Amino acid sequence: MPDLPNDIDRLREIDNAHHLHPFTDHKALQAGRVRVITRAEGVWLWDGDGNRILDGMSGLWCVNVGYSQPSLVEAAARQMTLLPYYNTFFSSTTPPAAALSERLAAIAPPGMSRVFYASSGSEAVDSALRMARVFWQLQGKPEKRIIVSREYGYHGSTMAGASAGGMRDMHRQAGDLPDFLQVATPYAYRDAGALSPHDFGLQAARSFEALIEEVGAERIAAFIGEPIQGAGGVIIPPDSYWPEIQRICRAHDILLIADEVICGFGRLGKMFGSISYGIEPDLMTTAKGITSGYIPLSAVFVGDRVAKTFIEEGGEFYHGFTYSGHPVACAVALANLDIIEGQDLPAAAERQGVKLRAALDEALAGHPLVGEIRGRGLIGAIELVEDRDAHRFFPGSRKVGTTCRDFSIAEGVMMRACRDTMVFAPPLIISDDEVGEMASRAARAIDRTWASLQTA
Ligand code: PLP
Repeated sequence: MPDLPNDIDRLREIDNAHHLHPFTDHKALQAGRVRVITRAEGVWLWDGDGNRILDGMSGLWCVNVGYSQPSLVEAAARQMTLLPYYNTFFSSTTPPAAALSERLAAIAPPGMSRVFYASSGSEAVDSALRMARVFWQLQGKPEKRIIVSREYGYHGSTMAGASAGGMRDMHRQAGDLPDFLQVATPYAYRDAGALSPHDFGLQAARSFEALIEEVGAERIAAFIGEPIQGAGGVIIPPDSYWPEIQRICRAHDILLIADEVICGFGRLGKMFGSISYGIEPDLMTTAKGITSGYIPLSAVFVGDRVAKTFIEEGGEFYHGFTYSGHPVACAVALANLDIIEGQDLPAAAERQGVKLRAALDEALAGHPLVGEIRGRGLIGAIELVEDRDAHRFFPGSRKVGTTCRDFSIAEGVMMRACRDTMVFAPPLIISDDEVGEMASRAARAIDRTWASLQTA
């Protein structure tokens, strides 16, 4: 391995001098102190200052099998030795790309038997959106182009991903391509008011039907949504929501794209979020957990209706990436699936998720700052609010979520803030003891946040 500097201050210095980070206020980071993560094991991270931090975020919602799994490392080394790279253009494939495709088809939701590879979630989303539009071109309906998503949806950071998402700040920064529209999010804590969860789920879904009436189904290619919205603040839809979205898509002949970049590969307690919610998508985007983040890989699962059209109509699909179906990434994905299936990690996510929410409920019972604790499988959120009875949020300027995130890291647990919603998604291998540790560290961070608000 090449020699790297191991003096942490020197690393900070060269990073500050030469590295522009993603999703970062560069001015603030220049003035601040970058955290250098040096190693990891299981659910634990170590930073260059010697702190041991429980990774309640699985990196960026991706390290499903936990860090330091030797079989993934061995799979990569073996494949690198044999064939470190070859492309899947020009009628070529490689053994890992073919084998992974068969394996993914076997675990896919019903009606999906083919996959298209890329390297990131954003590329998977971009690919799925292009496929949806080309599908309608092949059907002789090129005017079906509009992509509909939800407020707070996150579908990646390419120009198409940012435009498909529902993050206003991203739209403002050149992420506002034409023919992308957003409808309501099923954010029950904020919006349900006196409605029952069932009625609220139907109401949120029907904002899509209202949009269809306004713009016309003949102009809409697809609806894209995450089964549970992750980066938007772990927004968990009522059970009535997805069946209604599915009904609307079918009634108006609009493709349904499930963005499973976070939910896929076990996080919600089943292999895919679509299985948890009974969604039958036409296209399904996955990434992150497909290799547990050990190496970049993403896959679009293509439903039989779309695949059949592409295959029967023929004509080149002018789309793909140098690293589509990268053999090393596919080999790692196969080893990763061995662990997810062999250890039944979806069931573990379900089981440990119940324990984690129970531990958080107990540690934070009646806490004046906590409006709601919610979750499904091993993804969840804690709403920090100004008024629990009125479900009233703090003004954004108080930056309560950011304060809590900083206290969380100081307490040795990685949680992330989406506005003032603290979100978490630990590795699916988290043990009972680690669940207890995570809950008590999170509770201490929230106590410290509360104390700081009293003196502010
Ligand atoms: N879609 C969803 C639902 C995501 O959560 C993300 C990333 O968090 C993406 C797409 C984009 O993935 P990537 O960052 O790998 O491009």
